[in-house]
Amino acid sequence: MTTNGNHLGDLDTARRKAILEGMQAELAIPLSERDEVRVEYLADPLDQVKSNTDRDMAVQRLDQRAKLAHEVRLALARIREGEYGICERCERPIPARRLDAIPWARLCVPCQSELELLGVEETGDFESAA
Ligand SMILES: [Zn+2]
Repeated sequence: MTTNGNHLGDLDTARRKAILEGMQAELAIPLSERDEVRVEYLADPLDQVKSNTDRDMAVQRLDQRAKLAHEVRLALARIREGEYGICERCERPIPARRLDAIPWARLCVPCQSELELLGVEETGDFESAA
């Protein structure tokens, strides 16, 4: 099966590209949250637990943000290469409705679900958030 992204209109792709570029700009803003990612040592064990939890959540947010930035970057690269909107796994067109919801989607819903069931981390090549 050969597809080249033509199931999406140029306008649709231009619109999604604008959304992705907006996200990229936003994600490029330096994080003040990074300050939260510090190990604190507190006298009170309960305070210590709370501090650790806050830190874990901050780390998680940074992690998600780094992943999203990565996905957005990949999506913009695919638009440039004319491969946008094609499932990376089965190479079928990703439905426009899915791309409306997730403009950076790389997989169609069946492939995504299948990978999730298999417990495969589909993107293991993130640069570190630092
Ligand atoms: Zn697929």
